[in-house]
Amino acid sequence: MNVLSVEEFLKNYHVYQDYARVDIDDSLSSAEKKVPLISLTYGKSGAPTLLITGGVHGLERIGAQLCLSLMNSFHERLMWDQVLQDMMTKIQVVFIPLVNPNGYLNTTRSNGDGIDLMRNAPITSLEKVPLLLGGQNFSSRLPWYRGSQVAIETKFVLDNVEHLLQQTSHLISLDIHSGFGFNDQIWFPFANSKKQFTQLNELHLFFKLFEKTHPYHIYKIEPQSKNYLTHGDIWDYCFLNFKKDTQVYLPLTLEMGSWIWVKKNPLQIFSKTGLFNPIKEHRLNRTLRRHRPFFDFLLHSLISNSVWSQFDIRLKEQIQLEAQSKYYD
Ligand SMILES: [Zn+2]
Repeated sequence: MNVLSVEEFLKNYHVYQDYARVDIDDSLSSAEKKVPLISLTYGKSGAPTLLITGGVHGLERIGAQLCLSLMNSFHERLMWDQVLQDMMTKIQVVFIPLVNPNGYLNTTRSNGDGIDLMRNAPITSLEKVPLLLGGQNFSSRLPWYRGSQVAIETKFVLDNVEHLLQQTSHLISLDIHSGFGFNDQIWFPFANSKKQFTQLNELHLFFKLFEKTHPYHIYKIEPQSKNYLTHGDIWDYCFLNFKKDTQVYLPLTLEMGSWIWVKKNPLQIFSKTGLFNPIKEHRLNRTLRRHRPFFDFLLHSLISNSVWSQFDIRLKEQIQLEAQSKYYD
């Protein structure tokens, strides 16, 4: 079992079936052939769940590669690591390593129909979004095209999240992207509005715990709305439409800062993928290594979720004030 490249994964995903439940949607095709959409589920159904997605934007190849690399190591460890095997009786982990296979294979941000999947969910911002970047309906030949209907790939993600939120009390999703800024950032909702995230208290306690246990971590943590607003964000849509009041759901996006790779290797700006991906091998390896502590933290924090998702109601106001001044001032 060692599927290293995304191309190999598309052909050999069945090898994961020893430990994972592998679900395929084959309603998507490229110009010549069917291209599978694949989700892989480990652990106990209905338990608190981590969902990791990659490759929503095909050009940001490192997102799919990182997701696949995390999944491979996790799968390898499950074969021998009794601690991890015990953990998986208490949680569920779902991977969708390649949300946009046609985009990946064609090296485009959008899917095969020119649709930007992260502008394609059926949700429209009521606030002012940046022209084009916020999502546009002028033409599929321009970037950030919203599309006239929900794409097969978007629907695959929406259906998966809806299904998970029908079962579990706690869900954390981590969607992996690259290409914005010098830092590795973690964004949380909303993307469609400057309004405060409505699960801010739990999110604040979650990251406070992370910062206490990993004081030298590398992430800049912010609401997406501090960067720019968009229409059609998949995670806004899931959070606002599928989550029940009693559930805890933290939709997170890892936006790996690609400008640092360009700064260290300016010539890569001339390659098609160079603006979004580490090109030199040592830098790619470092990128694949550097997010493992956070992945481990996600697993552990889901098992011990009461620490950050249940709090004394008398402290609610204090937590809220602290969170507001940290993330919204
Ligand atoms: Zn992206």
